[in-house]
Amino acid sequence: MQTEKKSALEALEKEVSLCRGCSLCQTRTQTVFGRGNAEASLLLIGEAPGESEDREGKPFVGAAGMLLDHYLAFIGLEEEDYYIANILKCRPPHHRDPKPEEEEACMPFLRSQVRILNPKIIICLGRIAAQRIISPDFRITRSHGEWFRRGGIRVMATFHPSALLRDPSKKEAALDDFKKIAEEFSALQNETANI
Ligand code: SF4
Repeated sequence: MQTEKKSALEALEKEVSLCRGCSLCQTRTQTVFGRGNAEASLLLIGEAPGESEDREGKPFVGAAGMLLDHYLAFIGLEEEDYYIANILKCRPPHHRDPKPEEEEACMPFLRSQVRILNPKIIICLGRIAAQRIISPDFRITRSHGEWFRRGGIRVMATFHPSALLRDPSKKEAALDDFKKIAEEFSALQNETANI
């Protein structure tokens, strides 16, 4: 069914696909807007598309995406339970971090996505998303798994799945974070069911 949110997201995605707001438009194969359920109450936010995402046009579809899917499935979440997007909609070349001016140029699109999706829970995947959404001095090793509130939305950061692939010793801590996400998600479902 084509809902109001889905239509609004499609219109925004079309706008993003034409964007030339920063120099990444010159090196991208295509823009990477988002995937998942527009009606979901959980929004996951990463930093930027990688090589597989740039090729396929969807976020989190490479090895890191498969690991993320594994964690989400472990806590009982399916794709219909969440929506996933990135701060940047175009791939920074050579796996480099997004530049501040690229984030500034692209953030209005993410803000529009958040307005349309109206999530109740946001999970920042990695330092870059956490520093943009939670606090500029956010340190992922110190504050991952802690809950914050931003504009009435429950917000947490956990490790980016690429970081877990690079350093498997963080996987146990990440799993604890995902268990907290499951608890919060389930509490939210119960709240909604009792309305
Ligand atoms: S990264 Fe964002 S601002 Fe830059 S060209 Fe792509 S869509 Fe536009």
